[in-house]
Amino acid sequence: PSSYANMKDKSDRATNEQVLDPRTRIILFKMIGRGLIHEVNGCVSTGKEANVYHALTPDSAHLALKIYKTSILVFKDRDRYVTGEYRFRRGYNRKNPRKMVRLWAEKELRNLRRLRAAEIPCPEPLEVRENVLVMSFLGDNEGWASPRLKDAEIADRSTYAALYSELVLNLRKLFHQCKLVHADLSEYNILYHRGHLYIIDVSQSVEHDHPSAFDFLRNDIKNIEDFFSRTGVNCLGLRRCFEFIVKEKLETTDGLNEEDVLKKWLEFTPSEGSSEGGPIKAVVEQAAHEDAVFKKSHIPRTLGELYDPEREVAALSLNDWEKPIYADTIELVHPDEKNPTEGDDTQSNDSGELRALSRSSDT
Ligand code: ADP
Ligand code: MG
Repeated sequence: PSSYANMKDKSDRATNEQVLDPRTRIILFKMIGRGLIHEVNGCVSTGKEANVYHALTPDSAHLALKIYKTSILVFKDRDRYVTGEYRFRRGYNRKNPRKMVRLWAEKELRNLRRLRAAEIPCPEPLEVRENVLVMSFLGDNEGWASPRLKDAEIADRSTYAALYSELVLNLRKLFHQCKLVHADLSEYNILYHRGHLYIIDVSQSVEHDHPSAFDFLRNDIKNIEDFFSRTGVNCLGLRRCFEFIVKEKLETTDGLNEEDVLKKWLEFTPSEGSSEGGPIKAVVEQAAHEDAVFKKSHIPRTLGELYDPEREVAALSLNDWEKPIYADTIELVHPDEKNPTEGDDTQSNDSGELRALSRSSDT
């Protein structure tokens, strides 16, 4: 039986590279059978972890299918998002890429629902079946996908400025209302659709109290600040943008809404073009210096213990999509099962998990 398993592994691996392995094809056939989709057309994007296809419903409405690759190699990179994520706190099963991938697809669906609930522009998630996520298609009536922010042809600077403000306000919402940090945000994961910025690709997004949440957030903000600065927009700068997004309470007491507060913050941004020298230039240099320091410093999230029973109780009252995905719904290597005789707290998660894996394969 082991040689059969080996053979099967090999053929699986080969087909996995092409995304549409037999099992995925069956999922699509079933969707067609149920009348959810009528046909799957061209590939909108081929990526490292997933391909995105355009599909039509029986009523000729456009859909996007994000089909995650089930190759185990693809998901190696993802450890840094999973480590410390309480939804994955018991680790996840590297031996079964299908289950792992299903978890990513589910996570993307739930995260998109949180964004929708907060009215942050993003695709509407419709359903997930294993490694296939079905969502609304962001594009025109002919089925052409809307461009990524990177490729969007936006002529004037004032449009960019408005989009920047909109995005920063939405990132604040993402943090406080959705309690998420995107963790892979850049002009590549934002679509310019109907004049607005739609956030996509949220499968790796982390809870705002993930131990590395602030590091991920700073990186997201850096990408956004860099991009919009290049278009000539007067931005907040990395550190102030971070502060604007994370700050518990903005100065909204004197009748200002968040948008007004952002305007105020932007007015006080020392911009390079505003002066040839003198005191303003000094302020600019000071801000740049602070940003440079900020970029390098680690921002601890002060969460010693990830397991929080109170939080689990609170989760009971949440809507379905807000509930954490507990990794124990799939097969897992529980950290308690790490070799108990060794009892070495300093061991890395990795080696602990490896040991557990090899132990289970001994039996
Ligand atoms: P990846 O993990 O491969 O980066 P993304 O979710 O970023 O996956 O999607 C890849 C590309 O597919 C995007 O850059 C975008 O061009 C296209 N895309 C993704 N979702 C949609 C959608 N709902 N509508 C239209 N195009 C989409
Ligand atoms: Mg992407």
